[in-house]
Amino acid sequence: MESKVKKNSNLKYYILYFVIVILIIVAGYFILNSVLKEDVSAGVESSNLEVNTVSFEDIESVKAEKFEVPDHISATVPIFMYHFILEDYGDYPDTENFLKPETLEEQLKYISENGYDTIYIDELDELYKYDKPVALTFDDCFVYFYNNAFPLLKKYNQKATIFIITDYINGENYLTEDQLKEIADSGLVKIESHTKTHEYLDEMTYEEQLEQAVESKERLESITGQEVSVYCYPSGRYNQTTLDIIKDYYDFGLEMLGGVYDSDVDTDFYKIPRIYANRSMSLSTFISYLEQSRVYY
Ligand SMILES: [Zn+2]
Repeated sequence: MESKVKKNSNLKYYILYFVIVILIIVAGYFILNSVLKEDVSAGVESSNLEVNTVSFEDIESVKAEKFEVPDHISATVPIFMYHFILEDYGDYPDTENFLKPETLEEQLKYISENGYDTIYIDELDELYKYDKPVALTFDDCFVYFYNNAFPLLKKYNQKATIFIITDYINGENYLTEDQLKEIADSGLVKIESHTKTHEYLDEMTYEEQLEQAVESKERLESITGQEVSVYCYPSGRYNQTTLDIIKDYYDFGLEMLGGVYDSDVDTDFYKIPRIYANRSMSLSTFISYLEQSRVYY
């Protein structure tokens, strides 16, 4: 009888212990869980805080670290030369200079879907920033650039450099000052000089050439508020006088032809070669040039 009572009271203790142990485990689980949650949310908050407080200088220093300027790199860059983007060229001569808008769209689509980096001409001395650089340049332009090419560059978010004949500005079928300002402000297009009058530089006197180089640069800079540092020789014609003059005003000079730019071969920044993107260029030909884009150390 006595042992039964003892047994019963022992059993009660066992049950009590068991319940206490369960309670401790459950309480422990909840406490641990809530501590872990706090840690995670604190982590998120602190990382948010970090993002919010990253300064411009921090980003610049990270960039500088990522793009540490190497002693020497080699690069090949296809630089395409376009003129007019227009479906129907009407009575114009030089029909190969007119590229259909859908052809340009096809090319831009390919560039953006295949990881190429469109660069400005004035980035040719900073190629270490890119993996697959390609440059799109438009000569003469007229209003067709604003109507047909500019919307496509914006649609595919691709950069281009355009060359403007400054005496033509505000003239018939040419770009207006307001359009040039809008184009420059887009951040996708650099506006550079194609002289004042688009005449043969190699037939001009020193003074005439100086005027072409200096006044076109000043006019464009006053319209866009941005530096003009690239000179594009009309019809690809220039002479030693041209080169002597522009080295004081420009960083780059562009030829009309010559194939893919190769930094090891084309070491003179005033004789940059280009590829003529004409109306009958097929997409596969365009791609075969693109595929030569390379930056190596
Ligand atoms: Zn031209």
